Amino acid sequence: MALFDPRARLRAFTTQDWVAVQRVVQRGRFTLGQASAEHSLAAERLLAFLLCLEADELCQLYHRVYHVCEAHPIRTVPFRAGLPSVPFTCPECERVVERPDELSFDVECRIAAPDGVQVAVP
Ligand SMILES: [Zn+2]
Repeated sequence: MALFDPRARLRAFTTQDWVAVQRVVQRGRFTLGQASAEHSLAAERLLAFLLCLEADELCQLYHRVYHVCEAHPIRTVPFRAGLPSVPFTCPECERVVERPDELSFDVECRIAAPDGVQVAVP
């Protein structure tokens, strides 16, 4: 099991936040929106944690891109590649997406270590 040691990072985290992220990383794959809601952890705090985890090469992050036509993502792109720019043709409905407000986004985390990550609470 890989160890995530936050050291001086994420100093604003409370004990409750650390307990939540310890539970979140027990899943191999999850989305920011779902994990934030299920563990009562603010999305911006969870994203800050995930960016540290990715910087330590313990996970890969992706943007999930949703179009109004479907409940499932129409694209999944590496987080650091950024959000897609418009216009582009939706691969599901084949309409041209011209405005960003036709899209919604979530962040997907895939834990890299095959047997998981343990979080060292500072
Ligand atoms: Zn579409």
